[in-house]
Amino acid sequence: MNVLLLGSGGREHALAWKLSASPLLTRLYASPGNPGIGRVAELVKLDISDHSTIAAFCQQNKIDLVVVGPEAPLVAGIADDLRAWGIRVFGPSKAAARLEGSKGFTKDLCAKFNIPTAAYGRFSDLASAKAYVEKMGAPIVIKADGLAAGKGVTVAMTVDEALAALDACFDGSFGAAGAEVVVEEFLTGEEASFFCLCDGATALPFGTAQDHKRVGDGDTGPNTGGMGAYSPAPVMTPQMTERTMREIIEPTMRGMANIGAPFAGILFAGLMITDQGPKLIEYNTRFGDPECQVLMMRLKDDLLVLLNAAVDGQLAHMSARWSDEAALTVVMAARGYPGTPEKGSVIRGLEQAEGEGVEIFHAGTTINGGALVANGGRVLNVTALGATVGEAQKRAYAALDRIDWPQGFCRRDIGWRAVEREKAGV
Ligand code: AMP
Repeated sequence: MNVLLLGSGGREHALAWKLSASPLLTRLYASPGNPGIGRVAELVKLDISDHSTIAAFCQQNKIDLVVVGPEAPLVAGIADDLRAWGIRVFGPSKAAARLEGSKGFTKDLCAKFNIPTAAYGRFSDLASAKAYVEKMGAPIVIKADGLAAGKGVTVAMTVDEALAALDACFDGSFGAAGAEVVVEEFLTGEEASFFCLCDGATALPFGTAQDHKRVGDGDTGPNTGGMGAYSPAPVMTPQMTERTMREIIEPTMRGMANIGAPFAGILFAGLMITDQGPKLIEYNTRFGDPECQVLMMRLKDDLLVLLNAAVDGQLAHMSARWSDEAALTVVMAARGYPGTPEKGSVIRGLEQAEGEGVEIFHAGTTINGGALVANGGRVLNVTALGATVGEAQKRAYAALDRIDWPQGFCRRDIGWRAVEREKAGV
């Protein structure tokens, strides 16, 4: 099979790495890709927002499957457009991608199909949103309805903070994404990421992970796209997974089919494990980054076979096997991130850092004058397997410390919660 992978981050490098191991694969193309992806795929320059150019490339190069990494093209309808040209695509339709593209849509779906989630209100004018906040009090959560590159959520500990977040949304801080807001109840508990591979009817559990969103050690400082992750998430016991499937995922699959938007692709549920059980915080309609990196390290089966089954509606006959080992990834970011990262610093020593059970996925790198240089906020994902999260953590940091990149930084405590659990023997 010839496969075209769209995207350029660490998530896509992990997908490319796993796809390239498939005996079914003839040629793997990636657009735009990055230098790490370039080691396992042929990089092509295509404008991802121009769907007809992508379709023409697929026809010229006899592409049998397009795998879409990021959310923006899915929400823009790339899967529908390519399918209209007769091209097979792994990723949800525009109608199904509303699960990520509109937080209000997802909340209404939850209400309609009795899916546990935070109580909420949807507002398209400032005055009524403010009145709702005043009535409910703090803590409370304000969310821009649309895609806001991970920045549209404010967990407000005071009413004033919530009102300021509403002002920012309606002032246009998030563009069209903030023209409507969801105001919701503040949930407490432990967060976990739960993934399912879906074919429109069947949802196959596809791994669990936990990530670290804050930039600083001890989960402090500003939010980021994610500074590290590990898999599996200890809080997702078999019982919790079964409840999540029954109470959240399966009603979502039935609900989406029921409204004429069956979901096929990766369904990524952000969960809060509360005293009352799992509650949905949000859906994403693609793999998480950096969660994908740890999932791909643990997946024992052929990813291409599984993606084909999802595209062909054959998941009811499939299973996915996972390594018993834990995987952990540490993000190396460029100084300045999550503000304005410094670009252009030279990265050396990746060869001596890699080894058995260790993979370094590229996120924001490029080649400049023959040297590998930083070209974004999150730059490298140093990823390792280990018998426990603690062992995977040791290996990942040992590898990371062999990388020569003085302008990079990372958190030193990725996985701390799971490691503490392991030490306590629970
Ligand atoms: P998101 O950008 O939607 O992933 O949300 C960012 C983070 O905000 C989540 O990972 C949670 O930590 C937090 N969050 C979102 N909604 C809630 C909620 N209703 N209660 C508590 N925390 C929340």
